[in-house]
Amino acid sequence: MDMLINGTAAPAADESWIDVKNPATGEYIDHVPRGSVADVDAAVDAAEDAFGSWSEKTMRDRGLILSRAADLVRRDHKDLAHLLTREQGKPLRESIDEVRGCANILEYYASIAGQPAGEAVHLGKAGDCLVTRVPLGVCGAIIPWNMPVIIMGWKVGPALLAGNTLVLKPASTTPLTNLRIGRLFLEAGLPAGALNIVTGPGESVGEALVRQARVKKISFTGNCETGHKIQKIAGDQLKALTLELGGSDPMIVMADADIPKAVEGALRGRFYNAGQVCTAVKRLYLHEQIAPEFMHLITVKVEAMKIGNGLLPETDMGPLNSQSQRDRITTVVTDINDREEGKILTGGSPVTGNDYANGFFYQPTLISDVSPDAAVLKKEIFGPVLPMVTVPDLRTAIREANRSRYGLGASVWTRDLSTVKEVFQNVHAGIIWVNRHLTIPPEVPFGGTNESGIGRENGFHALDSYTQTKTLFLGW
Ligand code: NAD
Repeated sequence: MDMLINGTAAPAADESWIDVKNPATGEYIDHVPRGSVADVDAAVDAAEDAFGSWSEKTMRDRGLILSRAADLVRRDHKDLAHLLTREQGKPLRESIDEVRGCANILEYYASIAGQPAGEAVHLGKAGDCLVTRVPLGVCGAIIPWNMPVIIMGWKVGPALLAGNTLVLKPASTTPLTNLRIGRLFLEAGLPAGALNIVTGPGESVGEALVRQARVKKISFTGNCETGHKIQKIAGDQLKALTLELGGSDPMIVMADADIPKAVEGALRGRFYNAGQVCTAVKRLYLHEQIAPEFMHLITVKVEAMKIGNGLLPETDMGPLNSQSQRDRITTVVTDINDREEGKILTGGSPVTGNDYANGFFYQPTLISDVSPDAAVLKKEIFGPVLPMVTVPDLRTAIREANRSRYGLGASVWTRDLSTVKEVFQNVHAGIIWVNRHLTIPPEVPFGGTNESGIGRENGFHALDSYTQTKTLFLGW
């Protein structure tokens, strides 16, 4: 397992390393190897070697190791969360949530170990079939920087429980907490080679993992364009795929909603993790009867938000994760202005001042008067910018919600069951929340439709996706 963390005070001396820096301060934290194709091959060798003994264990024994890993993640949650905030930027309490969420998902998979996973089919005189579920072999996991710890749990938990071994590639700006958790798996008793972490750029290390013919499945979370590339490569090899891609979740607020509660939902839904969440509220559709009140309330709240280093207890929102992320958000808002697609109610530029000079801070931004045809609604805004559209009725809200190439999540805020029914039956998304947004429990399948991806994380669905059936036909 490649888990080198240098912990040296000095940045890397040459190009064979990647420096990891705090996006709030520019402070150097550590450096990790810039992996190569040879490193990917070596990790796959290790994973292949480990596969025999790991897959031969009972599921219950594998579950016990996951359970121990969950305990260790909980034991170290403060240190892990601190490291996550330093490399990712999010407020410490969000990092604590995420680290605990990772422990919860590992514990969830441990808890379902041993539950019947196969089936018996009686075929009358012809015989009986025993349908078992066997692991796929060596699997690859590629994860992004926005929620690196929980997404690690989503992939490692079901893959290992099912008996696969794994090669995981973290994002280059956030590899450190993933590496620390990898070490905790070893401490929990995971055999060497069952989980391998290779750091390095997506275009080289990530792509090499996808191209590796001995890798039987890739579970990828990231943006749509990368997802398309991966699907093409995997398609040539008939490799199994889970693709968790971008989203542009609509939130619909009807006239009968609990408005203060919906405002809180939109705030958390949009500005959690500085808006860098796949299922963030990315388009807000407000019924015209409540739109003025809603916009007033949310503007007051947004203007009271404290922006700063995630390690400070008063911080509500940290920086974006990188310069390129902030550049993207700056372009989104410039385009809205240039095309006169909406009115900036608050925010609209990077945060300035001495405390912010070395970080990638952007003001939480609200845009009103956005026309349903605005170009900004067609893209995924992966940062703290919320476009708001006023709609006359539910039908219009549903029609507009569906005018997106994505289909990850959606929410409706209402007290009326018939509204819930209309939204559930007609909005294209993998999950529809009612009077909440963002929550993704370990037990529930999670994933999108359309360009938001294929396959599901979490629950039995993810476990299934790391197995294939193998049938014993007993002819009597
Ligand atoms: P990205 O696709 O650029 O990178 C994600 C990972 O893929 C990184 O580890 C990266 O190094 C690697 N990678 C990049 N190019 C690669 C290639 N050619 N081959 C193999 N691997 C490669 O994604 P991003 O823009 O950094 O992440 C944000 C995106 O992720 C957003 O679109 C967001 O919505 C999405 N996301 C989706 C979910 C979900 O569950 N649906 C969850 C979180 C984030």
